[in-house]
Amino acid sequence: MAEIFQADCENCLGLCCIALRFNRADGFGHDKSAGEPCFYLDAQHRCRIHNRREDLGYEGCIDFDCLGAGQRASASLSAEDRTNPAAIAGVQARLRILMAIQELRQALTEAGALDLAAPDHARRQTLLTQFAAFADDPKADLHESRVDPVLDSARALIRSWRDERQGAPSRS
Ligand code: SF4
Repeated sequence: MAEIFQADCENCLGLCCIALRFNRADGFGHDKSAGEPCFYLDAQHRCRIHNRREDLGYEGCIDFDCLGAGQRASASLSAEDRTNPAAIAGVQARLRILMAIQELRQALTEAGALDLAAPDHARRQTLLTQFAAFADDPKADLHESRVDPVLDSARALIRSWRDERQGAPSRS
C-alpha cells in the first residue's frame, strides 16, 4: 500500500475512537455513538487496551483503517488546539470527509493498473490532483460545496469502469 494511505496513529489524536459510531454486533466490545470518546481512550489519545483488543472483543478496532485520514485531520489543529477537547471534537467532520477522500483516492490510484482509455486516464489524474490538494494541505478548505463535486466525479468514474467490466451501459 502506498505510504499516503497508511494510518499514522502516532500523529493522530485518536479521532476514530471519538468520531465514529460502533456497536457490539460489528465486533466492538461495547456500543458507542458518534462523537462520544471511547472510554478506553486515554488523555494522551492512546488506547489503554491496545494490546488486549482482540481478547476483549474489539476486533473491529483492529480491522478499521482510516487510510491516513486520522493524522491528516489531526494536523489541521494548532498545537494549542490539540489539547482542547472542544477543538478536537470540532475536527470530526473533517475526519469523515478525509476518510471519503482517501478511500476514493486509493481506488483511483489502484486504477492506474487498469488499461484505461486516454480520456479516463486524464480524468483519473485530474481527480487525484484535486484529492491531493484537499488531503495533503492541513489548511485546505474542505467545505462540502468544494469537496462533494469531486467526490461525486470520482464515484461516477469508478462506477463507469465497473459497469464496463460487467458489460452494463455506462452512467457517467
Ligand atoms: S478500544 Fe481502543 S482502539 Fe478501540 S475505539 Fe476504544 S480506544 Fe480506540
